[in-house]
Amino acid sequence: MSWFKRPNSNFEPDENGEPNGDSNQDFNAESTFAPVSDDASAGQTKVRTEGLWIKCPGCRNPLFKAELEANLYVCPKCGYHFKIGARQRIDLLLEPGYSLVCGNLRSTDPLNFFDVKSYKKRLSDAQSQTGLNDAIVTALGNIGPHPVVLSAMEYAFIGGSMGAVVGECIARAIDRSLASRHPLIIVSASGGARMMEGVVSLMQLAKIATGLAQLDQARIPYICLLTDPTTGGVTASFAMLGDLNIAEPGALIGFAGPRVIEQTIRQKLPEGFQRSEFLLEHGFLDAVVPRSDLKPYLIRALDFMNVKSPSHPAG
Ligand SMILES: [Zn+2]
Repeated sequence: MSWFKRPNSNFEPDENGEPNGDSNQDFNAESTFAPVSDDASAGQTKVRTEGLWIKCPGCRNPLFKAELEANLYVCPKCGYHFKIGARQRIDLLLEPGYSLVCGNLRSTDPLNFFDVKSYKKRLSDAQSQTGLNDAIVTALGNIGPHPVVLSAMEYAFIGGSMGAVVGECIARAIDRSLASRHPLIIVSASGGARMMEGVVSLMQLAKIATGLAQLDQARIPYICLLTDPTTGGVTASFAMLGDLNIAEPGALIGFAGPRVIEQTIRQKLPEGFQRSEFLLEHGFLDAVVPRSDLKPYLIRALDFMNVKSPSHPAG
């Protein structure tokens, strides 16, 4: 019940002078409100509420998970946009009947990398947790009447980091767009390049940017949807190269993190720095679109971009 405590400002230090308030609460942790034993031998009526509630990081209210899910994982009280997975994103945007492609590629750990644990172990852990082979899922399907190629990044897979597999999947998605002339949409959610693959991950930036230049020459629309968080090498490359760059409200978008910038330039950054609304105000984004409006917004954008329409001369 730690999340029913008062806000952190009211904590009192213990005898060691250490704050005993839960100032480092894990906002993503599931609620453990009134957990009840599963012991069937007790023979008493049990009410199991564990995991049914989640605390909103935006307004700190407890939210009923089923209600949150019905509201597309947006807080009904304050509009905070929770992170969602790649498959949920695809389900949200595409019509039923889409097909998944490019899911069988796996990283080969080219540097045989080891930090506190081996990269191979990190990969196998992430694979068993997410059910994906790497941090991206590509789907072919329709948004409204428009056939599209949609790639969505999975933040739960090693922070959505971009290694050789993510780069290759995006390159193949670009190739599919070029071959079919269907618009490409990439939903980014990433901490940046995958350091465990070193220069191999950085090479993906050039490979993807070259492919996107070909899309541009072929006059095929490319739309970037930036979600929380989109940082590092992903922001510095394909996430900002769209014909249309849009973001969800409140998403962290930037190259280096705010703390690193503050320490480097030794200045206090303005409030809301590197959030979607700030970037929109300063001309880095074309629109900030709430999750519930994303699909109709994308359909309107694709309607507008459709050069085959007789009322719009191709050129
Ligand atoms: Zn909230």
